[in-house]
Amino acid sequence: MKLISLPKEIMQGSKIRAIGVAEKNHNISKIVPVADVKQTRRVFQLRNTLDICHTIIIFSVYSLCLFAPFTFNWGVLCGTSSLCRYWTLRLYRNSSTSGGSDMCGNHNNVKDLEMQAYYRFLRRTQYVHPNAFVALLYALGGFPYIIWGMAVRLFLVFHGTFLVNLVCHVWGRQVWKTGDLSRNNGYIALITFGEGWHNNHHAFQSSARYGLEWWQIDMTWYIEKLLECIGLATDLKVPSDLQKQKMLL
Ligand SMILES: [Zn+2]
Repeated sequence: MKLISLPKEIMQGSKIRAIGVAEKNHNISKIVPVADVKQTRRVFQLRNTLDICHTIIIFSVYSLCLFAPFTFNWGVLCGTSSLCRYWTLRLYRNSSTSGGSDMCGNHNNVKDLEMQAYYRFLRRTQYVHPNAFVALLYALGGFPYIIWGMAVRLFLVFHGTFLVNLVCHVWGRQVWKTGDLSRNNGYIALITFGEGWHNNHHAFQSSARYGLEWWQIDMTWYIEKLLECIGLATDLKVPSDLQKQKMLL
């Protein structure tokens, strides 16, 4: 028996280790049962400036959401949701595929992205985008647009991500030999635009497609294919048959 570290996304805020039977190449031949996971919660702490900034942002988002019932109307909902659709989907999937440094290496592992001026520009100006978006929302619809286009949207994105990282490590089906607790959960996939095919994602982290079977609904993948059809996306990565073969349980 050997102790195996879980992915960073589960480790954050807690110390978790799962016991599994490991082969030499770290592939686990046995699914790790949730009951075997020992967990010790770490007390909430602010360790650096970034932690303080994140706390302020999250507190602000939740506080602004209190205004949501008083600023709601269908015009605001339709206006902000159409504006936010592309914004949310792309940032969400891009960030979730970056993975933990323990599994994928650090930022140096994205040389292909760093070679493209477009991504270098995005990184250099990453703090400008949300502020510019807030200004645009305010110009288009005032305070209600900021509440629904920024605060409520971020609230849903946060909780969608938390839902995937919690539920899809407890309930669902494992089909790939990932050696962790990740699972595919169709219910979560339906409400998170395909992110619920989480065992697929853990198995093939560079894949743009999470719903690998035709019946695994993955709205983000359909939009990516649409973008490819009209020439706005190229070189969409999906796992090869050989890669799938190696990961089968
Ligand atoms: Zn996960």
